[in-house]
Amino acid sequence: TAGIAGAAAVGGYAAADTELDDETNEEIDERVAGMSLAEKVGQMTQLDLARLSGEDPWDGGELNEELLETAFEENHVGSILSGGGSTPVENTPEAWAETTNEIQEYAIEATGVPIIYGIDAVHGHSNVVDATMFPHAAGVGATWEPEYAEEIGDHTAEVVRATGIHWNFGPAADLARDLRWGRYYESFSEDPVHTSIMTAAETRGLQGEDGPDGDSIAATVKHFTGYSEPFGGLDRNPAHIPQRRLRTQHLPPFQAGLDAGAATVMMNSGSLNGVPAHASEYLIQELLREEMGFDGVIVSDWEDIHRLRSIHEVGESIKDAVRLVIGAGVDMYMVPYEIDDFVPNLIELVEEGEIPEERIDASVRRILKLKHRLDLFDDPYVDPGVAEEAVVGADRDLAHESAAKSMTLLENDGTLPLSGEESLLVTGPAATDVAIQMGGWTVEWQGLDDAEEEPPAVTVLEGLEDAAGDVTHVPWDREEPGDEDELESAAEGADVAVVCVGEGSYAEGPGDDQSPSLADAQADLIEQVAGTDTPVVCVMLSGRPLTLEGVHEHIDAFVMGYLPGTEAGTAVADVLLGEENPGGRLPFTWPRHVGQAPIYYNHYPGEGEFDPLYEFGDGESYTDFEYEIASVDPGTVSDPSPDSTVELTVEVDNTGEHDGDDVVLVFGDREFTSGPLMLPDRQLLAFERCHVESGGSTTLTLEVPLGPLALVSGDVPDDGERYVESGEYRLFVGEETTELHVE
Ligand code: BGC
Repeated sequence: TAGIAGAAAVGGYAAADTELDDETNEEIDERVAGMSLAEKVGQMTQLDLARLSGEDPWDGGELNEELLETAFEENHVGSILSGGGSTPVENTPEAWAETTNEIQEYAIEATGVPIIYGIDAVHGHSNVVDATMFPHAAGVGATWEPEYAEEIGDHTAEVVRATGIHWNFGPAADLARDLRWGRYYESFSEDPVHTSIMTAAETRGLQGEDGPDGDSIAATVKHFTGYSEPFGGLDRNPAHIPQRRLRTQHLPPFQAGLDAGAATVMMNSGSLNGVPAHASEYLIQELLREEMGFDGVIVSDWEDIHRLRSIHEVGESIKDAVRLVIGAGVDMYMVPYEIDDFVPNLIELVEEGEIPEERIDASVRRILKLKHRLDLFDDPYVDPGVAEEAVVGADRDLAHESAAKSMTLLENDGTLPLSGEESLLVTGPAATDVAIQMGGWTVEWQGLDDAEEEPPAVTVLEGLEDAAGDVTHVPWDREEPGDEDELESAAEGADVAVVCVGEGSYAEGPGDDQSPSLADAQADLIEQVAGTDTPVVCVMLSGRPLTLEGVHEHIDAFVMGYLPGTEAGTAVADVLLGEENPGGRLPFTWPRHVGQAPIYYNHYPGEGEFDPLYEFGDGESYTDFEYEIASVDPGTVSDPSPDSTVELTVEVDNTGEHDGDDVVLVFGDREFTSGPLMLPDRQLLAFERCHVESGGSTTLTLEVPLGPLALVSGDVPDDGERYVESGEYRLFVGEETTELHVE
């Protein structure tokens, strides 16, 4: 992984043992040798039965036999997924398990090979009504605690597998760089080191240490790569990312996911530097396979062979598009709406010698290998009787804890924590709107706005009513603001007003917003309440930092809650009432106004005035922390390499009146490089969350990698070399700094 900055440094997790025993490998070879070309191409095909012909696959509650015939008898299909919104008639864990069993049985009878079933379980089993929902990735990122990413992954594996599904399309290893982009919240953070650690942790949680296996599910690191920097801020816009930036920013989280053993990778649906990622031999062969050493399954994103033409205008015919994508090295095609565009064309391309059959065999071998690792040949079915029990009500404590730990206090004039004795006005759409607290990819693809049934949830209003004595609620809908007079008199009569704001739920392109500010009606609501002189506590539930121009000055205390999921209400109540001293920290930079976007902290010097509203890593507490850097060992690094590390020992003192969590962030920088190459203004190197009692202190020793400070020389990749320059460096924690000498 020589060219990927920080990858080794943030990994530290041995690559999982992906080898199967000799006997199984022989079995796979024999099976492949005995398969017809059509059967092999079928294994490389993944269908969503709901998209196959526009017919409802669960018409009248029964699986549509014709669709099953097309999929398995005619096309020998090897994989099924449920894309957003395509659920069995009855959306219960039991119905899911019954349905996947039925499809599995049909597939095995028709093809002799079990299917692998995939889904986007991006914050818990998010397609199933009764499932517990966890914070979306941005919120998990804000905990700065990889354990939550791992535990949520572990939970997800268990509940997903219980419903007969074996493959999750996550974690996203993309960086949150552009808040105009509708998928911003699916990223853990804007930073490569932080995102690497979280991506690795979620991968381990989903798959297990040496997984995937019969008790876990396969993870997918996505979307390889550059997806999260769409040039115009719109989903699937072209990205233009030079090698140096790709290697220092975008690749490390993918490498970390692979080092943690991720079994599959999904390609970026957009283009990178003028080539659609799906058709890029450079990205797939040179970078992913050879340099990054990935030998697992590469799955396309949604319909992306067709999109080569419909988005990128590449491929004069659909057959050309198939040749370009499969020829470049994609193993499995996700969702050809027209299966005849894919299967017969690929067969023909092989018969005509345009694509070597060995290329097909290699893909099929990888897919079968994954199915063996997941134990699908021996244990293809699940027990619908236990699915219900496994899913319903599962791990609500973890949902609560992870949400509470994500809450980030950004302003506080002393209004918080509340004593519980105050009379509270609670208002604003996010106080009661479950769609807001869940975000997209929940039951319905676009979130709960159009859903008939909602997953279990505690709203902020319910959480506060439970925890505080005296609560008055003035309803305030997203679409229909409430009664202004009622609002004003309730605000006047209250000691504190809790105004809960946010965005409706969305996924992908529909979430793109060229002007992601707090909606006018909600800004007015804050202003109106503030006009009564009652202190305003603003709680924002949103997957991105909505700008607060003209509003910010009316807020006395401000809590960012991200998209917390099922336990939003208990988490917010705990933080407002001081049960939980807020320890979340911003995983992204919060602009003052939309014109500052895209914005992120580790930009190159020369950006001029970098003046966001809140910085990456910001977050206050009800107590005070002080740092002292005790030592850096060694203080002089000789023969530096991108794998070098030093140990930084930091004492954290809690000098305030409350026990609480803090996150120690270690950044590094140099005053000058020797030139001509530049380093970012500063770069996060390591972090650790800790709990310190009031008046107490704790000493942390952090392993600080120098890899993220490496330069990439020359015209990469041809003669690119990663190296840590000798000279003087500065490490800092808060205001505390220490010198590091590199010889
Ligand atoms: C998204 C992927 C997702 C896939 C399957 C696509 O539109 O880009 O992230 O995994 O759909 O639902």
